[in-house]
Amino acid sequence: MKNVLKACKKCKLLTEDKVCPIHGDEKTTESWSGFLLISEPAESTIAARAGITTPGMYAIKVRQ
Ligand SMILES: [Zn+2]
Repeated sequence: MKNVLKACKKCKLLTEDKVCPIHGDEKTTESWSGFLLISEPAESTIAARAGITTPGMYAIKVRQ
């Protein structure tokens, strides 16, 4: 069975969970496109621009 990743509407973190592991009660959505893999936020200008401080996979676009 294929795992479906979902994106947090707040921080765009991709997860298999129904809620964001960072925001707890923030529901995640399957309506997202594109993703970034951020392994070292402190070293990444992309992460800095996107305001990402936690390593992980992030959606580029999330439909609100
Ligand atoms: Zn979140």
